[in-house]
Amino acid sequence: MAYDVVIVGSGAGGGMAAYVLTKAGARVALLEAGAPWDNAKDSKMLTPTYASPRRGGSTPEKPFGEFDGCIGGWEIAGEPYTRAPGTEFTWWRARMVGGRTNHWGRISLRFGPHDFKGKTRDGLGDDWPIGYDDVAPWYDRVDRLIGVFGSRENLPNHPDGIFLPPPAPRCAELLMKKAADKIGVTCIPSRLSIITKPLNGRPPCHYCGQCSRGCSTNSNFSSTNVLIAPALRTGRLTLLTGAMAREVTIGKDGRATGVTCIDKASASDRHIPAPIVVLAASAFESARLLLNSTSSLFPQGLANSSGTVGKYITDTTGSYVGGYVPALAEMPPHNHEGVGGMHVYMPWWGDNSKLDFPRGYHIEPGGGIYEPGAGFMGGIQDFPGAGGGWGRELKAKYRKYWGSTVGFSGRGEMIPNDDTFCEVDPEVVDRWGIPVLRFHWKWTDHEYNQVRHMQQTFRALIEAMGGTPLGDMPPKERGYGISTGGEIIHELGGARMGDDPKSSVVNRWCQAHDVKNLFIADGAPFVSQADKNPTWTILALAMRTADYIAQQRGKGAL
Ligand SMILES: Cc1cc2nc3c(=O)[nH]c(=O)nc-3n(C[C@H](O)[C@H](O)[C@H](O)COP(=O)(O)OP(=O)(O)OC[C@H]3O[C@@H](n4cnc5c(N)ncnc54)[C@H](O)[C@@H]3O)c2cc1C
Ligand code: SF4
Repeated sequence: MAYDVVIVGSGAGGGMAAYVLTKAGARVALLEAGAPWDNAKDSKMLTPTYASPRRGGSTPEKPFGEFDGCIGGWEIAGEPYTRAPGTEFTWWRARMVGGRTNHWGRISLRFGPHDFKGKTRDGLGDDWPIGYDDVAPWYDRVDRLIGVFGSRENLPNHPDGIFLPPPAPRCAELLMKKAADKIGVTCIPSRLSIITKPLNGRPPCHYCGQCSRGCSTNSNFSSTNVLIAPALRTGRLTLLTGAMAREVTIGKDGRATGVTCIDKASASDRHIPAPIVVLAASAFESARLLLNSTSSLFPQGLANSSGTVGKYITDTTGSYVGGYVPALAEMPPHNHEGVGGMHVYMPWWGDNSKLDFPRGYHIEPGGGIYEPGAGFMGGIQDFPGAGGGWGRELKAKYRKYWGSTVGFSGRGEMIPNDDTFCEVDPEVVDRWGIPVLRFHWKWTDHEYNQVRHMQQTFRALIEAMGGTPLGDMPPKERGYGISTGGEIIHELGGARMGDDPKSSVVNRWCQAHDVKNLFIADGAPFVSQADKNPTWTILALAMRTADYIAQQRGKGAL
């Protein structure tokens, strides 16, 4: 079969590109390195923990637990990555249809107007060549197609969307809201891509709280069942699983001619020709593909005349504080049902002119009662005054304290810096002989000071709930408890967008400056992070890029 477009990667970005392009009439080949997956059949939603002798514990392919909806992990056999001396970095990769969208947290936030123009506001990093108004129509379309719940708040830099009704706060969340109001932290209903009303043939959530396992009724968003399944129904999508892209091939005229991939089942190479190539293998995998696609025309990697492929990479900053809240102990049994995620969240509320760090962070609260698994509560002896015990006494203690802890996770904006980048490791290759990435990572005081502020705020919130933080604030020498680079799994950059081909890889349509028929539809083109999770913006930009491709194809311009 002849293809009009070949897409690499079937996660958020690749799924959206496949959806839009097949609907627009293109014949598309979608290459996915991982295994097939269908949430309707493969999700372990509603499987009781006691159904497995492992009680839901982790396996090498499912580090977040055997019922989790993601095949992959921090380490994948035969697919290493390396770290430069002194670098701490970790990289979560999915290897399955839908990528990480089968188990992601579904926190679905729009970037705001300030997030696209950071440099203009505080002189740091770089501005995007586009602004919020350029992306807003696609955010609207993503909201209508996929569905997101939330509330209209009219907050500065936290644009409202087209929301379905949010679920009501649960017991611990009501207390968190009260505490946030008390200390002046904004607290509003969360914004998750889980449908609370029927939408586009999908039934609403039935509040089983198990979103990370994948949803058998497709009431939450996964690329697999919300984008790729309808794309397959057009009859124009060929989904090739176990197909690991090795490089983008190039003709004598400097145009992309297709993608060479390894068919993992036969361990043989195969070329998928197409006049348009879209990379959506996840930000750093796409950078890796560009760096590994060398030729006499592009000796330092494809689309890399600027030398910026692999540069300006970032992750979200993260820090956590847990606390014991006596008011939540010995709670009478009642219905704690909800979606598999928070019902309230705290968007950035601060004023940087009064702070010692730029930009901001948001807070993801956790707590309440859910189906316990092996090792739940992490040791009863650590609860204030609980001690140990046996038999009936021990059970009574678990009943007393279950649900009495809360936790606050901060997710903040990192500023790109020259010491944080990835490159091809000159020596190490993966099991197919493809050179792997070597990472360099450095947080700066911008991030350390922000994380110290997180720690102070989370402790104040716990105290305002009448609780006690569990553990002391990590000292400066331990970075105030900052996450390891990559750990928050919001990696972005590596092929950033810009108007100037000398300092950027793709233009405002995510089209490579150097190769007009090559596009990137994942997080690689992001110029900066924000104090928001990135995937709603990956989806909006992928839709915008795919629309542009369809329009240019229509004009014969590609
Ligand atoms: C536990 C968890 C929670 C998260 N929660 C949130 C959240 O609440 N909100 C949010 O905004 N984001 C969240 N994220 C991040 C979110 O999942 C990612 O931003 C998003 O999935 C990125 O989409 P993508 O298409 O770029 O990459 P992916 O979803 O990773 O998909 C990339 C796909 O490409 C395939 N691939 C890679 N290399 C190749 C190759 N060479 N050839 C062929 N195929 C290849 C991979 O197998 C994979 O399937 C979370 C992530 C995790 C892991
Ligand atoms: S909580 Fe709702 S969306 Fe999540 S798995 Fe259960 S039914 Fe699906």
